[in-house]
Amino acid sequence: MNIVIMGPPGVGKGTQSHAVTDSKGVVHISTGDILRMGIRSGSELGRKVYDIMTAGDLVSDDLMMELVKDRLSQDDVKDGWLLDGFPRTYVQADGLIGMLDEIGQKIDAVLVLQAPAEEIVRRLEGRITCRSCNEVANLTGFAAVQPRFCPFCGAKEDPKRPGKPALYQRADDKEDTIRHRLEVFRKRTLPAAWRLEERYPLYEIDGLGTPEEVGARIASVLG
Ligand code: AMP
Repeated sequence: MNIVIMGPPGVGKGTQSHAVTDSKGVVHISTGDILRMGIRSGSELGRKVYDIMTAGDLVSDDLMMELVKDRLSQDDVKDGWLLDGFPRTYVQADGLIGMLDEIGQKIDAVLVLQAPAEEIVRRLEGRITCRSCNEVANLTGFAAVQPRFCPFCGAKEDPKRPGKPALYQRADDKEDTIRHRLEVFRKRTLPAAWRLEERYPLYEIDGLGTPEEVGARIASVLG
């Protein structure tokens, strides 16, 4: 099964992606995670995209298409994948359709998660990420990032930089940047969803409620 999950930042794409990959046995491909790994490892890709990501803007279509084409050609994704964070523009959606046609694949479901802007700002301001395992936790009201243990992997420090806390707030999870990313989603990413809908089944999913409630809505459309 091939699935695309879309939605504004903070709507729960990451959490739901993990649930879907577990239940459907498909491989999770998150373009945001791939880029962040590039930044952390100091690769050329990371250096190219750091400023763009920190500002909440989109990385160029050419670079993203190359990255996804390369990832989709690897062996481990042959039996199914879930794309999270791609496509983000009309051009990327069009490119993805072309890429899949070329290799004789299709998308079985495009999931578009939706939630009101105010709820998203509230969620993202309380979001922290672990430098060790890259998991994301939601600690509403979590103001300053304190050295403490990651609830997922237990790390207290960045494994690469002892003394530096494992948990941090992503630079693009600050309020102004969140609002900008929401605008980018509305103007540039929704048209990508509607482009995919011309070819594949698309389901709009209400992203409000507990992760379990949202997960149940997704499970009911994936069957
Ligand atoms: P995410 O983790 O999906 O929220 O992505 C974080 C950031 O990575 C985005 O705000 C963009 O700067 C960049 N990014 C991730 N995926 C894409 C994409 N498909 N196209 C352009 N930029 C992307």
